[in-house]
Amino acid sequence: MSKHILLTGANGYLGTHILTQLLQSGHTVNAVVRSAEKAAQVQSLFPTYTTQKALSTTIVPSITSPGAFNTAVQSTPPFNAVIHSASPFLYRAISSNTEFLDPAIKGTLEVLKAVKEFAPSVERVVITSSMAAVVNFSAPFVSEPRKVYSEEDWNPTSWEGALSGTPGNAYQASKKFAELAAWDFIKNEKPNFDLVTFNPPMIYGPIAHSVKNVKELNESTARIYNLFINSSSSAPLPPNGLHLYVDVRDIALAHLKALTTPEAGGKRFVICEGGIGSQEISDLLRANIPGLKERTPEGVPGSKGLDANVFAADTSRAEKILGMKYRSREETFVELARQLLSIEKEGGVQE
Ligand code: NAP
Repeated sequence: MSKHILLTGANGYLGTHILTQLLQSGHTVNAVVRSAEKAAQVQSLFPTYTTQKALSTTIVPSITSPGAFNTAVQSTPPFNAVIHSASPFLYRAISSNTEFLDPAIKGTLEVLKAVKEFAPSVERVVITSSMAAVVNFSAPFVSEPRKVYSEEDWNPTSWEGALSGTPGNAYQASKKFAELAAWDFIKNEKPNFDLVTFNPPMIYGPIAHSVKNVKELNESTARIYNLFINSSSSAPLPPNGLHLYVDVRDIALAHLKALTTPEAGGKRFVICEGGIGSQEISDLLRANIPGLKERTPEGVPGSKGLDANVFAADTSRAEKILGMKYRSREETFVELARQLLSIEKEGGVQE
């Protein structure tokens, strides 16, 4: 059945995939963005849905302002659900750790407070958290027995560590404290709606939002461009970073499934295809895209898979309750790389 959805972060990498799938599934959507320019960009991606009034936009310039969403959540027809995916994850746009923490935490609470007070028709709020809220990045990545992270785990970062640590610590903490704040809100405020949170690891796969040149890439696709495309065959293989990943279309679909699966209510979900090492990404790109032979680090093709005891993710809850299935690595990495090459060509930016 068609639902009316409020979606924040609708112009972002993941947000645009969620928006696309919502519209294609027959839902109507109000897309929240920060500026008129971004609203116009979103509408220009979906001219037909805009004309048919299946897509509308609302501008919330500052998600941390008290009452930021009080007007946005009120609508005719009323909203059935809210998906909150807006949160900072762009290291180059951040100049202090609080720029990660404040919008993540206060933005989440502003959404929840506004829905409770002004949108009694909303039955469910879905929030995009992250595996960053789950994984203990200060623990060894390889252990015996291997660590398998699940919805029971929370990263141990303290508030002080978030403020004084690296920007990476601050991002991880922003996702943890924002998600915890949301669960606390449900426990303490007992609103009429329930909550679903998603914990995806690195998100890769094709770009659907407006990106004019490679300088505008979001954090995760920029990682693939910078380390695996704008490099050379003789460069050392880049460090793995977080080896766990999911395709952007699969995590977007999880958000849609959450809207129509009553049993999902009150749960967090780890959504993860699995782990992939740098050698495997390089091998996939070099084997499938001839133009990358000279540009993608070669390493030792076919060698050095991930350590058998590197940490993993337990995805059984999402498989059981949401029926999640994941697409192939070729689809994720090769499609993204081809697209990055075409953005590079069209945008003419190479550093
Ligand atoms: P993105 O392309 O950078 O999109 C982020 C969205 O959040 C954009 O709409 C952005 O709006 C908005 N946003 C960022 N900072 C904001 C602020 N201070 N105030 C208001 N809005 C703000 O990133 P993404 O990769 O799609 O991330 C979407 C969500 O997925 C985030 O919650 C992120 O933590 C989560 N996630 C991402 C990954 C990944 O690998 N990409 C992995 C796990 C979880 P503007 O365009 O106006 O900046």
